[in-house]
Amino acid sequence: MRYASLASGSKGNCHALTDGTQTLLVDTGISFLQIRTRLETLGWDLSHVKAVAFTHEHSDHIAALPVLLKRTNWSILATEDTLQAICRIQSVEVPAHRWIPLRPGHATRWEGWDILPFSTPHDAVDPVAYRIEGPTGTIAVVTDLGHPTALVVDHCQDVDILALEANHDIQMLREGSYPPTLKARILSRIGHLSNEATADLLSRVRSARLQAVILAHLSEQNNDPALARFTTEEALRGTGIPIHVATQRTPLEVAAQP
Ligand SMILES: [Zn+2]
Ligand SMILES: [Zn+2]
Repeated sequence: MRYASLASGSKGNCHALTDGTQTLLVDTGISFLQIRTRLETLGWDLSHVKAVAFTHEHSDHIAALPVLLKRTNWSILATEDTLQAICRIQSVEVPAHRWIPLRPGHATRWEGWDILPFSTPHDAVDPVAYRIEGPTGTIAVVTDLGHPTALVVDHCQDVDILALEANHDIQMLREGSYPPTLKARILSRIGHLSNEATADLLSRVRSARLQAVILAHLSEQNNDPALARFTTEEALRGTGIPIHVATQRTPLEVAAQP
């Protein structure tokens, strides 16, 4: 299995997972044109994309939905509440034959893969993260959560690749220019994961199987890639597990060995 971050951060998020013959996107928070361009940059084939799995309805995760409904025949994987929310926000309808309904905590078989959405603490109607098991590996994509619940920790165990939110440095956020209400939202238990919380989570899920960690959804205002890496690498010291930092504009690819 191969993982790619096409974009990551508050201005748009899009992850891609492939087994070489079919590709699934997780969220489409950048334009359809950018999705196509960035897949091309990585040498991934747009025609291999078969579906998008949505995590929640925030705009940095759903921007391309209207265009991809018109321009592609991709299936839409989402829980019922999230589907209703993204359709309402984008003023679109997803035809029934294109929707694959998901339920948090229940794995859905999709084209030979097991897609397991699980609930995350975040201020959206039915937010989920994903643990996805393909024919040659398991990848978890876990962003937009205020704190790592026991359920989240459980689902991050025993994976080959872990893409995990490292949104902000707590001190940078506290001392930064965001309005107090926004700071409080991000710091809340249904906001975003700090570098410190991410490091703690990593120390609990490091395993011999884990081949790579991707730090995702970094705030451009309240974090710094080097600081996120510095704060989290202590949790993986001695394991040899590489840490990659996903960015807003430059795609990044990571492969897992079977
Ligand atoms: Zn987000
Ligand atoms: Zn969000």
